[in-house]
Amino acid sequence: MKRFHQIAIDGPAGAGKSTVARKVAQSLGYCYLDTGAMYRVIAYKALEAGIPLDDERAVTGLVKNTEIYFKHGDSESVFCDGKDVTNHIRSKEVSRAVSIVASYQGVREQLVHLQRQEAAKGNVVMDGRDIGTHVLPEAEVKIYLTASEEERAKRRYLENIKSGKASSLEEVLRDIQKRDRLDSEREHDPLKPAADAFILDTTGLPAEEVVRKIVNIVRGG
Ligand code: C5P
Repeated sequence: MKRFHQIAIDGPAGAGKSTVARKVAQSLGYCYLDTGAMYRVIAYKALEAGIPLDDERAVTGLVKNTEIYFKHGDSESVFCDGKDVTNHIRSKEVSRAVSIVASYQGVREQLVHLQRQEAAKGNVVMDGRDIGTHVLPEAEVKIYLTASEEERAKRRYLENIKSGKASSLEEVLRDIQKRDRLDSEREHDPLKPAADAFILDTTGLPAEEVVRKIVNIVRGG
């Protein structure tokens, strides 16, 4: 039986989920779990180990031998088998590999199990693609964050510049379109809004405004 409050935030790439989810969690005093980071860790580890991404069995086998750990502070750090991989998992290579890894049922089952274990520890804000539809179907509040493709690409492009990653706006847009297509069309738990989700189009809205709207929804406003 569910004992804690759960908030699910889903949506396509670059919709601002992690920025918003982190701030919503801070405002409410809840824990924040970035489930995309978990899939990214597995993609990173597969690339590092030279495992071909189309080798479903080998990629799936990696998960049970991988320790994923989050360290929360002003921003959260992600550790893979004791190594800080926070920056590595945001590379272009990992971003291109992650949707393939995330399409494997065995990978999803194991990570969803870990995500539910985290949710059982306390009040949580979780962001991803299938949180409201699959991971936490009983979440009190489900948000589907979206924004125009152009705006999402522009946000990701500006983030990349800030963290010193070079790629053109066109390249970022193409990568986002490809990832969204793979995530929406995959067989297992594809990206889609839960039937009872609030759909928030954040095009043109600053993150603070989106956070305020979500906190109001949570508080029943
Ligand atoms: O949220 P982020 O962009 O970091 O997610 C990276 C990828 O991980 C997504 O494009 C998707 O393929 C996968 N993912 C998923 N289910 C989740 C979270 C992320 O399939 N709950």
